[in-house]
Amino acid sequence: MENTRLDSDIENVVIIGSGPAGYTAAIYAARANLQPLLVTGFNSGGIPGGQLMTTTFVENFPGFPDGVLGPELMDLMKAQAERWGTNLYESDVVSIKTDSHPFELKTLDGSIKTNSIIIATGASANRLGVINEDKFWSKGISACAICDGATPQFRDEELAVIGGGDSACEEAAYLTKYGSKVHLLVRSEKLRASAALIDRVKANPKIRIHWNTKVEKANGNDWLQQIETINLEEVKGEIKVKGLFYAIGHTPNTKFLDKQIDLDEKGYIACKSGRPETSIEGIFAAGDVVDSEWRQGVTAAGTGCMAALAAERWLAEKNLSKTIIRENSEPEKKLNNSEFNEEEVNEETFDSNSEWQKGSYALRKLYHESKKPLLVIFSSPSCGPCHVLKPQLKRVIRELEGAVQGIEIDIDRDQDIAKQAGINGTPTIQLFKDKLLKKQWQGVKQRSEFKEAIKNIL
Ligand code: NAP
Repeated sequence: MENTRLDSDIENVVIIGSGPAGYTAAIYAARANLQPLLVTGFNSGGIPGGQLMTTTFVENFPGFPDGVLGPELMDLMKAQAERWGTNLYESDVVSIKTDSHPFELKTLDGSIKTNSIIIATGASANRLGVINEDKFWSKGISACAICDGATPQFRDEELAVIGGGDSACEEAAYLTKYGSKVHLLVRSEKLRASAALIDRVKANPKIRIHWNTKVEKANGNDWLQQIETINLEEVKGEIKVKGLFYAIGHTPNTKFLDKQIDLDEKGYIACKSGRPETSIEGIFAAGDVVDSEWRQGVTAAGTGCMAALAAERWLAEKNLSKTIIRENSEPEKKLNNSEFNEEEVNEETFDSNSEWQKGSYALRKLYHESKKPLLVIFSSPSCGPCHVLKPQLKRVIRELEGAVQGIEIDIDRDQDIAKQAGINGTPTIQLFKDKLLKKQWQGVKQRSEFKEAIKNIL
């Protein structure tokens, strides 16, 4: 579908952030024919898709009676926003200029002029700063149990989670799937999670709660082996763990605003209670970046809707909206139109020429027989960053017109291969040529990095 807009130099509305608030704002603004531009975020403020990308089952988002995986919910919101004409821009906004109109946003690779802005940048997971944290980061210490829990090094080992909120309880319960025992380290004498999650944790025989306990230091050689703790009575202790997961709350992502917009005493954007307008006319805010209290996917989505309606109204009042003329009033449906095979292949379904296949059978065959470079992504079912990265890798493969083949390995399913490949977190991406490992990446990276590395070995 090609839509036309009368003037495309100045955007109607730029939405910053790709969590539930950002995508809901985009759905509403797009359906108002404003053709919003949504800057997804890249490096700063966590991964695109927001905090739900690092959650397992979301069981309280209305409309999903059996729950839905966080990353899947975000894929659906993204597809809905795109279907109605939202333009996505993969970058970070690094600064904004608000003292003249139209506003100007500087991104990692350019600048954008816009008549209105919706800030939906959410909040990022906090780090603790224990001694040796940097040394063991991704080598035992992680801020995302849901992303990294399936890593082979954690299997049947003792693990620890720090925190006493919903995330800590959810992650402790999740990790019992992999670890032999999970220590939940709570700095006070109470959990502040929801009653349902507290019940789940207390009923789980593999979880031991340590009250009034803080972690001071991490020890080990190449991988974390032990943590040193201290309790309220200053009694020191040691726990042998191979994994330490932080779930200690979040900080709102407002640094790029450089104090141009009023913030509250905790650093959240200050809006009038229940309203999306910020201290600057034409700039609206939604989701966790304004909300230190409720912080739910559904409340973020609700405020995203309010911000889009307020922006639409404001643009109309000021006579600034330049709406698109749709060629098709019923845009093409977005779901289930992946051109890549998403099924695990076997002897019968394997295709030596396919651009993207899944599973250890495909990897073994192509590793020995393919003359092309192989891009292998090690993922796990609930890994949010994998959801972000997979479409990017598929785009790289498509753009290179079959010069490279992609293979996805689910480390939960193919544990032996993951162990052999030395995988210690997802997503890990390995690039092979002629049975040699040429390059390895961990986490979400820009498409250009993969493309350049592949081109170098073609
Ligand atoms: P949170 O509610 O802010 O809880 C943070 C926890 O970390 C608190 O228990 C806090 O202890 C502890 N903490 C903070 N700093 C610490 C430090 N330096 N050392 C040790 N412990 C420290 O954060 P959250 O659990 O990430 O939840 C954020 C929001 O998302 C909440 O609204 C929550 O309801 C929602 N959420 C919902 C679900 C779900 O429904 N499935 C799952 C995850 C998150 P104190 O209690 O002593 O302050």
